[in-house]
Amino acid sequence: MGVNKFDIIIIGGGIAGLVCGNLLAKIGLKVLICEKNHYVGGCCCSFIRKGYKLESGIHTIEGYRSHINRLIEELELKIEVARREVTDIIILPQQEVKIYSEFVRTKEFFRQIGIDKDEIEKLESLLSADWRKVIDLNSFKSAKELIQHFFRDDNLREILCILARNIATPMQYLSPVNYTIFLKQYLTDNGYYFPEGIDKFPSILQKQFKKNGGVLRLKAQVINFIIENNKAKGVRLANGEEFFAERFIVAADHFDMVRNLPDKNLENDLEKLKTTLSVFIIYFILPNRVRNKIEETNALWIVSNFNTEENFASLFAGLDKKALYDNSVIMVGFMPKKEDYFGAYCISSAQFASKVQWEKVRSIYKEEILKIVKKATGINIEKEALFIETATPHTLYKFTNNYRGALHGWAPTPAQIKFSIANRVKINNIYFTGHWVTGYSQGGIPWAIETARRTAERIMRENGS
Ligand SMILES: Cc1cc2nc3c(=O)[nH]c(=O)nc-3n(C[C@H](O)[C@H](O)[C@H](O)COP(=O)(O)OP(=O)(O)OC[C@H]3O[C@@H](n4cnc5c(N)ncnc54)[C@H](O)[C@@H]3O)c2cc1C
Repeated sequence: MGVNKFDIIIIGGGIAGLVCGNLLAKIGLKVLICEKNHYVGGCCCSFIRKGYKLESGIHTIEGYRSHINRLIEELELKIEVARREVTDIIILPQQEVKIYSEFVRTKEFFRQIGIDKDEIEKLESLLSADWRKVIDLNSFKSAKELIQHFFRDDNLREILCILARNIATPMQYLSPVNYTIFLKQYLTDNGYYFPEGIDKFPSILQKQFKKNGGVLRLKAQVINFIIENNKAKGVRLANGEEFFAERFIVAADHFDMVRNLPDKNLENDLEKLKTTLSVFIIYFILPNRVRNKIEETNALWIVSNFNTEENFASLFAGLDKKALYDNSVIMVGFMPKKEDYFGAYCISSAQFASKVQWEKVRSIYKEEILKIVKKATGINIEKEALFIETATPHTLYKFTNNYRGALHGWAPTPAQIKFSIANRVKINNIYFTGHWVTGYSQGGIPWAIETARRTAERIMRENGS
């Protein structure tokens, strides 16, 4: 095989591309990963500003038992994983709610704050393994309808809506099946983090990939496929280089990659699909003494009113002309402590809009969010921070190429989870993986791993290995 010829070329070195590359390189296939950035990890990465290391914003790793642990064992990854006792603290206008990594403790807490025993039992039955027998989830139009049917307690309903923020899709649009899968994982197998930093995960995957003979090209943006007789033969990079292979895996933004395929109908169809919302993020560094004022948790949710779903839904539908972001729920996430400081970030849901629109509001939104955090926690970030920086949906788009700066690919609405890009692309040696793959998913890193595994297994089957 020549230096520019491979069995498999993977476009994108995020978690999905790295996992898929590892599984295929491990069985002896010659795999090339092309990554447009100078680092791997995609959404799951860190970056340095003014000498401080900051993380992209991944506050929690769910699905350790079902996805991560299996991967760590299979690929013999040397990585430390820790779990916090309290995964989420939700500051509601009237009270503070805790979600524990052990569901039995969450139930206990819910009882203490006055949530009815029957309501908690219903929640448990929804999360139980045989939920298909408990209720036909498909009979509900949305996750909102499901929650309204199942629960009477306003506080519980609000808590369940806040947790759905993780999927970046409002409850009234969200598939009840996907929501239930997510909720089960979030409430029973959650709260994990990498104490050495989130970037340790992609960097260890990169190391193992190379150890198994995989080739990684950084700063290698694929701009199109080389197609002959309705078959992909190679890829062309932005710098003009060309690489050839038998099979190609798109582990990057699907919209961008299919734009160049000879199928304009597909591009038109994709434009009609809704993406999950994006985010506006404030990254900051605080001295460690401030950390002692906050209880250890993966995420601190600050809920400033009870119209959270309305605000969120109008952003998603693109109806809210006044604000490009939603300050009804602010999520604060924490990075591992360093010797005398720690990094954290405030995240709020946000729409993709023009750069000019975003530049007009960037500093106003920052001020508004920091005021809300100060009121809820007593921490004056502006005064205490050693460093502050903001990121808009454009920043996210710039670093990941994810269409409209989407947090989790296409929105998991009942209609969209049935859409399969793989079935629409007529060139059968191009495969699709990563968080743009639709289906009954829980989203995020577990789904990126799951789709990568499915793609690798499919190729192994086709290869007879
Ligand atoms: C701020 C934020 C917070 C999040 N929080 C959580 C969380 O707490 N828990 C959780 O589970 N998930 C979270 N997620 C979601 C999770 O990070 C992603 O769903 C997951 O990492 C997606 O992995 P991926 O490999 O499918 O895609 P990506 O991470 O998007 O990787 C795609 C890669 O392809 C590269 N690429 C794009 N185009 C090209 C091209 N043309 N040529 C070459 N390379 C290209 C990109 O640079 C990128 O490295 C969060 C995401 C964000 C942005």
